[in-house]
Amino acid sequence: MAYVTGLRCRECGRAYPAEALHVCEYCFGPLEVTYDYERIAAETTRETIAAGPNSIWRYANLLPANGHGDVDLGAGYTPLVRADRLAAELGLGELWLKNDTVNPTGSFKDRVVAVALARARELGFKVAACASTGNLANSVAAHAARAGMQHVVFVPADLEAGKIVMTSVYGPHLVAVEGSYDDVNRLCAELTSERPTWAFVNVNLRTYYAEGSKTLAFETAEQLGWQAPDHVVVPVGSGSQLTKIAKGFEELGKVGLLDEAPHVRVSGAQAVGCSPIATAFTEHHDYVRPVKPSTIAKSIAIGNPADGWYALDVVRSSGGAFAAVTDEELVDAMILLARTEGIFAETAAGVTIATLAKLAAAGVVRRDERVVAYVTGHGLKTIEAVASRARPHATIAPTLDAFNDALGAELEDSSS
Ligand SMILES: *Cc1c(COP(=O)(O)O)cnc(C)c1O
Ligand SMILES: [Zn+2]
Repeated sequence: MAYVTGLRCRECGRAYPAEALHVCEYCFGPLEVTYDYERIAAETTRETIAAGPNSIWRYANLLPANGHGDVDLGAGYTPLVRADRLAAELGLGELWLKNDTVNPTGSFKDRVVAVALARARELGFKVAACASTGNLANSVAAHAARAGMQHVVFVPADLEAGKIVMTSVYGPHLVAVEGSYDDVNRLCAELTSERPTWAFVNVNLRTYYAEGSKTLAFETAEQLGWQAPDHVVVPVGSGSQLTKIAKGFEELGKVGLLDEAPHVRVSGAQAVGCSPIATAFTEHHDYVRPVKPSTIAKSIAIGNPADGWYALDVVRSSGGAFAAVTDEELVDAMILLARTEGIFAETAAGVTIATLAKLAAAGVVRRDERVVAYVTGHGLKTIEAVASRARPHATIAPTLDAFNDALGAELEDSSS
């Protein structure tokens, strides 16, 4: 927080103080946090970062909260794993997976929530709230419980059972709304003006929330020995995460932490059943037309994406691409990822890996590139997606004969 200079409208450039503001009063453009990059550059080195905590807060100088609050569950600092077996299946060269399934509540949302609620505490808020497609609900409820804050969480009523349980277990105020995420979001926007003392992490605190996703870029670069990758593939709901990963690499270049100026191609992944931004990309539109979502990739099923235009702009100007995959393709990709790399990830990650496969086959993601794919949520959250295809291989009586009859010939004998 020491280096934040204020907020600025992304459209008209007007400046605002660093309070719970999210839209420009003049043009309704979204607000963005601004920093004193010269001072950050002068006072931040690879060594000062390495001496920090093993969490997103090692990058506190580039975040809009100081992080020493009571909401901390240790988000971030997740593994970046080399994925040679998956790369071979996809015809790629150097492929890495950022495994965000291992965050405190099992998704990358812990990064954005940790930042939003740390800032909310600094601003004096006592109630945490959000409109969620599932993972945000899990994370807000857990972080609020940790801090002893009240929390009121709104989700679409048709959410996966795992996400309902993983939210309500932390406290009582989970509200299931009969409608899509876009209906939930509209309700929360109305509630924000009615209840200005609630910290809606992705509404009135959105400016701070969004900044948390930059840590996905910071960690990736640090884990690659302070180098940026050539190409990243990111799952897209609202588009916030994708735009902030791009901003994160740029900032590292700006404050002199990278060996070379970053040139990162950014590609976005959506499900065919909710692909408003991918459609705008393919059809060369300058606007994102809202859709009614229908996909099992519920965590990214946002029909009217708040950062859709900005995500489109980042992908186009970086030389990346958008693609969309079917529910069947994303389930195949969930199983492929588990089978080749030992990572069981949720439907959104299935979308990412299936899109990576598609872009690799089309020659957009290239064999000579160092590629990072963001695996953003744990598979146990959406277990129904693969349940019918992940059953015991055989069910047998507890005898050697039964085992040998069923499987003996199929399996290797380790002594030979
Ligand atoms: C929310 C979410 C996303 C998409 O993030 P946006 O910032 O809304 O684009 C991707 N993956 C998972 C698992 C999520 O929960
Ligand atoms: Zn403005």
